[in-house]
Amino acid sequence: MTHRRRYRYVEMSLAPDPEATPYTVRARCLACDDLSPEPEPSESITAQHERAQRWCTRHAARDYADGRHFRFAATVTLRWRVTPAEDIGPAAL
Ligand SMILES: [Zn+2]
Repeated sequence: MTHRRRYRYVEMSLAPDPEATPYTVRARCLACDDLSPEPEPSESITAQHERAQRWCTRHAARDYADGRHFRFAATVTLRWRVTPAEDIGPAAL
């Protein structure tokens, strides 16, 4: 017995998720894993970027027992949503 599968082409569009904060910029200290504060959703991505950088310099200015923390990683999160042009089944939660 053979099983046949049918495929069809469905147009999909990708756009910022209207139900989520469209972007967040945060910095993480590589020495202690401390994170910059959650940005305000109303801030522009540039303002979030600058705020995260200010947090890094303030964090590096602190005196820790193991020495100063000079290395950071920044993460920019963009929230997107795919919308199929026709129903292809329910969304996962
Ligand atoms: Zn640190």
